[in-house]
Amino acid sequence: MSQSAGEDSPLEVAIVGCGIVGLITAAGLARRRIKVTIFEQGQGLRELGTGIAFNPAAQGCLEMIDPEVTMALRMGGAVGLSAANEDDPHDCLRWIDGYNQRDKSDPYYQKYYLKTNAGYRGIQGIRRDHLLEQLIRVLPSDTVVFKKRLEDVVEGGDDEKIVLKFADGTVAEADAVIGCDGIKSKTRNIVLGPDSTAGKPTYTHVNSYPTVIPMEKAVSALGERKARAFHNHLGPDANILHYPVAHGTMCNVTVFVRNDEEWPQDKPTALVGQRADIEHRFRDWNPAIRDLISHLPETLPTWAVFDLWDYPLPFYNKGRICVAGDAAHASSPHHGAGAGMGVEDALVLSVLMADASMKLGKGKLSKSQVISSAFAVYNDIRRTRSQWLVQSSRRICDLHQQKEWADPTKWLKAESTLEELKDRTYKIWNYDFRQMVAEAAESYGMLISR
Ligand code: FAD
Repeated sequence: MSQSAGEDSPLEVAIVGCGIVGLITAAGLARRRIKVTIFEQGQGLRELGTGIAFNPAAQGCLEMIDPEVTMALRMGGAVGLSAANEDDPHDCLRWIDGYNQRDKSDPYYQKYYLKTNAGYRGIQGIRRDHLLEQLIRVLPSDTVVFKKRLEDVVEGGDDEKIVLKFADGTVAEADAVIGCDGIKSKTRNIVLGPDSTAGKPTYTHVNSYPTVIPMEKAVSALGERKARAFHNHLGPDANILHYPVAHGTMCNVTVFVRNDEEWPQDKPTALVGQRADIEHRFRDWNPAIRDLISHLPETLPTWAVFDLWDYPLPFYNKGRICVAGDAAHASSPHHGAGAGMGVEDALVLSVLMADASMKLGKGKLSKSQVISSAFAVYNDIRRTRSQWLVQSSRRICDLHQQKEWADPTKWLKAESTLEELKDRTYKIWNYDFRQMVAEAAESYGMLISR
């Protein structure tokens, strides 16, 4: 991308938050020659070295947003989640019994429950830190401004600039603001207004322990075939999944455990966890899983998982301000699709803002008309599907962690519910994102010509 991208754009867009969704939205806008600046509160890029995976719909959107983003994924070491299986080159997710030992003659036996097929290179896994490092290279070098914590946004008249106010006392101006500032979004508060009860994150009663370990350690615990492909091991009140990242040299492992206690408001949601606690929770599980856990680092990140399920957003836009990604629809991670949903947002926003820029160039409409109409269409197109993900992720967790897995008389009942898991997974993967773009363009054309 050249330094001068967006210099001739009649629109200037400010993005709040330099996470995955902020960076990808910026790439989509810059690709369409719209001037964009990202304001990030942190001193630099913030993601850890743990994994993230992009499903087929998200990958299709990335390609439409900017083929350079797809390239960034490759350069960052993305690999198919189960590409190592030579007899099946497709990426498949496999759900497998992690708890019961059904074959008493082989305590390591694990029953396969369900497989979903995402196709060739259908799901790519990558380390988050590697992804961000590559994404930032796609953008003009002056796009991201660090150490800018948004405190307020003041909208002006029709063609006046919007003013963003930061915690350090400085201000910036833009024609439109897209809040990609995550689950604790400040932009969301501004969009919803001070009296709104919506958009309050609540505890899902699940804690996650994400980490990466060298692939050879995963192989020693699980064997080649299992370790080098995505598996989600299920059991009562917990599940553990893993997949390859970093060109297949590392294995991303995430442990999820249920916690029936409340999470106090003032307690940090990101803590340091102990392997010993995980070992204790999994003491009755299949020995292969216990072996895998023995290879986790002694201390590792622990995240209390919050989402917006209890207090969903009634709308994602207010005038020339909108929210996208986790700021709009933070979900628990059990579908592994939260960022993918944000990528779908990014595609719609990129296309609509390009349209808005073109309409503005024709000179008949004000900035306020073209931008607020674009954000209204974005809200209509994106809200229902992305709010569904929040709800469905909670449901998926309940299916993964059924207490029935511990009761042999209930195994069949528990297994039969996994059919639902398959339907929900394919609903995410098979999304017709091209139709989404076509609908957005048509709705925008109709709205703006009224
Ligand atoms: P964030 O990543 O939260 O970024 C927000 C940014 O905004 C941050 O940099 C923050 O510093 C900044 N910010 C916040 N407030 C301000 C402010 N006031 N001013 C300026 N900057 C601000 N999704 C998938 O698609 N696939 C997966 O495999 C997957 N796995 C997951 C596994 C786990 C364990 C978890 C917890 C989640 C997973 N997700 C996955 C979900 C995914 O991580 C999130 O949906 C995604 O990271 C959200 O990105 P974002 O850019 O919207 O928000």
